Amino acid sequence: MIQTKRQTRQRPARPGWAGVCLARRLVGRLTKHTGEPSVSAKVELENIEKSYGATQTLRSASLTIEAGEFMTLVGPSGCGKSTLLRIMAGLQPQSAGEIRIDGTSVDHLRPRERDIAMVFQSYALYPHMSVEQNIGTPLRIRRLPTAARLPVLGRLVPGQRTARRQIQEAVREVADQVEIGHLLPRKPAALSGGQRQRVALARAIIRNPKVFLMDEPLSNLDARLRVTMRGEITSLHRRLGATFIYVTHDQTEAMTMSDRVAVMMDGEIVQCASPQELYTNPQDLRVARFIGSPEINVVSTEETARWTGQPLPDSIAHIAFRPEALDFTPKSAGIGVDARLLRHELLGHDVLVFLQTDQGTEITGRIPAAQWSGLAVADGRIAFTLRPEALLAFAPSGKRAPLPFSPDGMMPADRMLSHAS
Ligand code: ADP
Repeated sequence: MIQTKRQTRQRPARPGWAGVCLARRLVGRLTKHTGEPSVSAKVELENIEKSYGATQTLRSASLTIEAGEFMTLVGPSGCGKSTLLRIMAGLQPQSAGEIRIDGTSVDHLRPRERDIAMVFQSYALYPHMSVEQNIGTPLRIRRLPTAARLPVLGRLVPGQRTARRQIQEAVREVADQVEIGHLLPRKPAALSGGQRQRVALARAIIRNPKVFLMDEPLSNLDARLRVTMRGEITSLHRRLGATFIYVTHDQTEAMTMSDRVAVMMDGEIVQCASPQELYTNPQDLRVARFIGSPEINVVSTEETARWTGQPLPDSIAHIAFRPEALDFTPKSAGIGVDARLLRHELLGHDVLVFLQTDQGTEITGRIPAAQWSGLAVADGRIAFTLRPEALLAFAPSGKRAPLPFSPDGMMPADRMLSHAS
């Protein structure tokens, strides 16, 4: 009941003080938009479940998002991310489980009572209103009596001039923050996709919520603008200090923006960790495959056994390694593999090398472009080594398993490959 508490604190003690208190509240709000960080909240999800008829969309999702954290829910389309976000916002009820904000259950609260602002992919702007009116709407609803909000007659309602001016100033300040101050008189139809998204952000910021929920806010933008907006949303997060919960299917967005990322698959949170931890230490093969571009290489245990000369136990089903684990340096020590070169792609600083093993498995390597030009390719074949510590083992269930061999000294000496330069 955070909202209610705040309102109680700020409620005028006597009716005559209403105007004074309104002005104070607005001044307080303005101060918050002049650099002082807004309040953030801790959000806890405990065993959230959601079923549509017989179909279970969310299975016991539990997650704690710390106050001020930037948490991203990422996963393939249909895994339940938006459903979970909408449940947090109060737009949909969960079938089971509890949501707490700052330790208090909010399950019984309506969306507007949860002190949360939501930004959607579809912007959801009012087409007939100017940018200024769109951004100011949440404040007008909160701060002006119904009659004063009427299109023309509203202007005639006495005693609202100060409130209106302060709302106008707050709108200008927030619009400047997201660099759309010059667009205030325009209608949404006269804006680009990026500008509309900024209006939607400004309309969320002006509410000064403790928690921002963002559902794929950048997916309607072109690739270049997405990169710009990524940076802007992360700096906005730092500036506001609020809790951000962000939904995307794009692992690059998740990895570049977040403090922590919760990877969802089939209605479950499979792993929640920092981007670096997810990349280097995935606990599930689906996470390993979803995170990272190009995708992690996955080979069967039979094939690995051929490379190492050691059979692997039944407790292991797959061995995986990232593209940068392939070492093409001549004479490098490790597990030696010789493969057919399919093609390569120059990415500027790096080169992607696409290979096929004798067992038909396709493998991708990533090396600095400077190294590529010096590589020896004989009869369309190329050799590389893998350091054992770069390998990740996964059980038949897909869960991470300990490496079945000791990284040190696992290789019989005669199988250690030393490339001739
Ligand atoms: P995501 O955001 O990860 O793409 P959603 O949360 O939108 O996934 O949806 C998860 C699953 O729940 C999907 O299979 C979707 O079809 C189903 N779903 C979502 N909303 C409804 C609904 N109102 N009625 C029935 N099924 C739904």
